Amino acid sequence: MNEPFDFLIIGAGLVGCALARELAQYELRVGVVEQNEDVGDGVSKANSSILHTGFDAKPGTPEARLVAEGHRLWNEHARALGVPIARVGAVMLALDDEQLASLENYFENAHQNGVTDVERISREQVLQRVPLANSAVRGGLWIPRESITCTFTACAALAEHAVVNGAQFFLGARVTHIERTDALYRVTTTRGVHTTRWIANCAGLWGDDIARMMNSVAFTITPRKGEFLILDKAARTRVPHILLPVPTKISKGILVAPTLNGNVLLGPTADDVQDKSDTGVTAPGLARAYKGALQLAPALEQETIIATYAGLRPAASTGEYILQVDAKANQIVTAGIRSTGLSAAPAIAREITRQLENVGALAPRKKFVALRPPRAWATGQTRPCFDAARIQENPAFGKILCLCETVSEGEIQQALHAPLPATTLDAVKRRTWATAGRCQGFYCTAAILDCMSRELGRPLHALTKRGAGSEIIGLNEQPA
Ligand SMILES: Cc1cc2nc3c(=O)[nH]c(=O)nc-3n(C[C@H](O)[C@H](O)[C@H](O)COP(=O)(O)OP(=O)(O)OC[C@H]3O[C@@H](n4cnc5c(N)ncnc54)[C@H](O)[C@@H]3O)c2cc1C
Repeated sequence: MNEPFDFLIIGAGLVGCALARELAQYELRVGVVEQNEDVGDGVSKANSSILHTGFDAKPGTPEARLVAEGHRLWNEHARALGVPIARVGAVMLALDDEQLASLENYFENAHQNGVTDVERISREQVLQRVPLANSAVRGGLWIPRESITCTFTACAALAEHAVVNGAQFFLGARVTHIERTDALYRVTTTRGVHTTRWIANCAGLWGDDIARMMNSVAFTITPRKGEFLILDKAARTRVPHILLPVPTKISKGILVAPTLNGNVLLGPTADDVQDKSDTGVTAPGLARAYKGALQLAPALEQETIIATYAGLRPAASTGEYILQVDAKANQIVTAGIRSTGLSAAPAIAREITRQLENVGALAPRKKFVALRPPRAWATGQTRPCFDAARIQENPAFGKILCLCETVSEGEIQQALHAPLPATTLDAVKRRTWATAGRCQGFYCTAAILDCMSRELGRPLHALTKRGAGSEIIGLNEQPA
């Protein structure tokens, strides 16, 4: 019996999962409630998967400090967590005189933020590094430690590492009411009530609503939409580095980024919207993302677009990260983690625990499990189906269910029986990349559902894309 929890975290995005993992290193009872049926199914699933160095962050801000520390922590813990990182480096391209002059500011900015390995490079050096860059380029900056990772793996890994160290996740549980009675909070969700000593608001886009329920700091969150296009794998070899434009006042701008899974991303746009659930793409948004990317690399027009998506940055009214530990009210608030939260998440969690240590000593967990249980495959690695010895060990690694991404039944089974099991089709996609390839699930969805039904012991009609209301097969469509 874990309740009352010492800490109950609301929201299982990158920030909530990083905090759960950090707190689970201590002798604490940690719970996490999440309205979606999987971790990382909010803002955290729809970013550019770039691990920023913080070279372009505003010097002296918490964001600048935490992105730099987060970059270091991810690299430190990547192996234990099984999170792949590729240090591909980034080139910022100046396409006219004004941008060329701005590069100098970014060079200075990088140095102020301690990112001293940033170099000015000439037009020729840009074209040498990235032959397909716009030939009108005037010069650039080389940022060697900008890296790519897989946001899906990152979030699941943080959550699983928390679970193997005792944290409990309650998925599909939306928080509807919070009240404080004596020393405990009573948190009502759509799937039951929890009690806890401390409460942590990591609710992303809904952080302002949860803050109101907690009677904590007042702020508002505006969703800022970013739309992306994904290019087929043939484009990947032509894009060795991340290509960055010179940023604008409101966003880092539209970039071209290789992905660890072997594709290329074009985007994102930056448009404030009203609706926090409006994650649909739009024709004008995609057209702008495409045009912006082609400005950096016009030759990408020859490549095939296989998918599109959009994410919403949770921009706070303060314009900054909001991080607060209130020891009188036993409340933690993390909000406004807008466009750099993948990079900063482990440092945000570390910062919170540093502040908690000032409030009272935290005892390290006696039976701390240092490693996340290993997986047969991580994004970017060679699939087990290409290794005869592994197929001999487990024949399910030789049975391919998703042809475009060469995902085997064995990898899907592993995701379905992980410490934090995938229970929806989208969760399976985020763990294995099944359905994410060129056919976008057209050919493989049936076989994957069949496997899920068998392994989870659920009828086909009960399987969903991402929770109730997204059932994939109607009752009448089931095979007899
Ligand atoms: C277009 C775009 C590009 C980006 N690119 C990058 C990048 O390249 N690098 C980088 O470092 N960062 C990037 N980011 C930023 C990064 O993705 C975010 O900062 C990060 O995902 C925020 O994580 P979070 O945990 O705060 O929010 P979320 O992932 O949204 O997590 C909050 C969770 O709280 C849950 N929740 C909310 N209300 C309730 C409730 N009432 N009850 C229960 N649960 C609730 C939500 O369902 C959600 O899962 C990008 C973001 C966007 C949108």
